[in-house]
Amino acid sequence: MPKKRAFEATMNRRKLFIGLGAGIAIAGIPSIATAGEVGIQAGVWSNPTMGRITSGFKTPARPTHSGTDVANNQGTAIWAANGGKIVGVRTNSYPGDTRQGLLPGRTGNGVLIDHGGGYRTYYGHLYSAAVSVGQTVVAGQRIAAMGTTGNSTGNHLHFEVHLNGGLLNPYTFLANKGITLGSSAPAGGSGNWPTVKKGTTGARARVVQHLLNARGQKLVVDGDFATKSVDAAKAFQRSKGLVADGVIGPISWPVLVVDVKNGKQGSASKAAQTGLNRHGYGLLVDGDFGSLSVDATKKFQRSKGLVADGWIGPLTWRPLVA
Ligand SMILES: [Zn+2]
Repeated sequence: MPKKRAFEATMNRRKLFIGLGAGIAIAGIPSIATAGEVGIQAGVWSNPTMGRITSGFKTPARPTHSGTDVANNQGTAIWAANGGKIVGVRTNSYPGDTRQGLLPGRTGNGVLIDHGGGYRTYYGHLYSAAVSVGQTVVAGQRIAAMGTTGNSTGNHLHFEVHLNGGLLNPYTFLANKGITLGSSAPAGGSGNWPTVKKGTTGARARVVQHLLNARGQKLVVDGDFATKSVDAAKAFQRSKGLVADGVIGPISWPVLVVDVKNGKQGSASKAAQTGLNRHGYGLLVDGDFGSLSVDATKKFQRSKGLVADGWIGPLTWRPLVA
């Protein structure tokens, strides 16, 4: 249907601009309330990123290290660890820049959030920031992309938790709330990652087959997770250094899923549309993630208490397939 595609493409472009404006409008809506009321009262803390811990808080080797470092690829999503108000953003830094950052003793690009109740969180060495000062955010909202700006030797998030001006151990702080910093199961979503393995049939199997195709496999998407699908899963796992058991479970899912947002084309979009249809959205699975798909995503996100940004990242993928 070339006509429909052309229309969708136009809508995609228009949506982009509408989306930019909407982001600003959402920041100002009164129902969000003041920073202090957003997260602390709800008690919702959330894992700010996925990756591996490369340096801890005030370790013997680094007794003045004020946060915990979580390493991953450049551009890895950074999410607000709780609701609050953005009180500091720095974006003019670059790798190797030793100038003063947002806070004394810190370098690079950063974001500082005031959560109320004396709590603040700081996100450092960012590649870029997706928020501005004065903006209100909710837990799990994408606020930045991981980078290595400032005095840093590789892409990582330097994450700090402050209480009444003092520093807390971020890893322990989150662990006490049942959250593993850097883990692949960020809090704030709902549902657990399901298991898809040999013999699994139906929509979940189709989602995995589409995602494997998005990762370079060439499966016929028939919703029957049989030998060919298992082999493709193993090949994917091997390519990512995972145990190649052909079972897509809590470890493989977060590596397998692909961010899908407005304008995304191809197998990842087919996977997302198939996932949305599991929840009754009745989309045409055409791999063209246009305005209808974005609207369905926003409705789904609202129904799960997630940020309704129409963007399917790991926080949204998990309940989508759970
Ligand atoms: Zn650090």
